[in-house]
Amino acid sequence: MSLEVFSLKNKLALVTGGGTGIGLGIAKAFVETGAKVVITGRRESVLQEAVKELGDNAYYRVNDITDRASIPALVEDIENNMGGIDILVNNAGIHHKAWAQDTTDDDFERVIQTNLISVFALTRECAKKMIERKRGSVIMIGSMAGLFGIDRVIAYSASKTALTGLVNSLTTEYAKDNVRVNAIAPGWITSNMFINAVNKDQARKEQITNRIAMDHFGTTEDIGNAAVFLSSEGAKYITGVILPVDGGATVNF
Ligand code: NDP
Repeated sequence: MSLEVFSLKNKLALVTGGGTGIGLGIAKAFVETGAKVVITGRRESVLQEAVKELGDNAYYRVNDITDRASIPALVEDIENNMGGIDILVNNAGIHHKAWAQDTTDDDFERVIQTNLISVFALTRECAKKMIERKRGSVIMIGSMAGLFGIDRVIAYSASKTALTGLVNSLTTEYAKDNVRVNAIAPGWITSNMFINAVNKDQARKEQITNRIAMDHFGTTEDIGNAAVFLSSEGAKYITGVILPVDGGATVNF
């Protein structure tokens, strides 16, 4: 077997929330394996720094994914100026840590808007051209919190569990046009979101480590590697899959 099947040479990838954490890890893995990458996010300074780090094959667009009216123009801009989008990674997401009884409707709605409704809206827009071209790979960044019960993440967990529904349904609709839809469910990864949510609480950090079969946290590189595989020709017959990348945490409960 030639390793060429895992190369992303001549591919264009759009990674939402690609300026930090897991999104940046995915963007790095993509450029390292030959792709051109467009990263998005709301903070221009963060995106500028990330693009500097990523090198010549990386570009950014400032975009708030919850501004759904902006999505057609974002996709058109990328398609016209950089080329057809081969790979979409729906990575942008927010976390809301609170007990269910303390979570307001507004909190819940904000998380669902970002982590679920915007994901569908962007996927639908990108898929128009992917379907026309009869090729494409869509990756949702889910979470372990969408696979089993974790306390104090009610809205987040609901949003990530619902991504399974998107993957299942979109897979059956898009497969005939050779557009594949998969999800990665990261475990505990040392990214900004993770550090903010867990590092403040040492007891919680130890409790979590005990739950991970491999006994340590994952890295953004681990998620990047999985994203490269799922986007590559090496995974051309893989669609409809939720891939946990979690050091065995999912099966260690
Ligand atoms: P970060 O907070 O570093 O990344 C979130 C990214 O999303 C940021 O770059 C942020 O940029 C962007 N973002 C947030 N809201 C919006 C918006 N409205 N429009 C556009 N971009 C937005 O956290 P992580 O890297 O940890 O998280 C990335 C993904 O991985 C998320 O979907 C998260 O749920 C998932 N995940 C993370 C885990 C972990 O352990 N870290 C575990 C499981 C899943 P900006 O603020 O500039 O807009």
